Amino acid sequence: MGLQGGCMCGAVRYEASGDPFNATLCHCVDCRRASGAPALAWFSVRRDALRWTRGSPARNASSPGVERLFCGRCGTQLTWHGADAPDEIDVTICSLDEPDAVAPADHTFASQQVRWLHLADALPRYVRTRSNGQLC
Ligand SMILES: [Zn+2]
Ligand SMILES: [Zn+2]
Repeated sequence: MGLQGGCMCGAVRYEASGDPFNATLCHCVDCRRASGAPALAWFSVRRDALRWTRGSPARNASSPGVERLFCGRCGTQLTWHGADAPDEIDVTICSLDEPDAVAPADHTFASQQVRWLHLADALPRYVRTRSNGQLC
């Protein structure tokens, strides 16, 4: 049994099998706008490991080569995938039925974090992606 989740209203449900990887709390402007929240927590799975089990999500091509899928009824952000990593898909941790099942291992786009958000963890804080180095 994989990780199960879905949107707030229940119209869209999914199951993610396989081992999650690259769990992160993303502070980028796009995640903030898409969710209306200070940051979005994500985990990745192989794209063929994610299966929609109820309904089908709406799509937003949020930037070139990038597609965000969300519930077209209630608006919950569900997945992100980009042309740069066609075999992976990112899933919002907090759409999981048990969001404690996957914990972020780092912060991404920390350079875009809202200044009033203070998180008392000791996780690495990357300027943008993990390849861009860490904030001091
Ligand atoms: Zn919904
Ligand atoms: Zn982001």
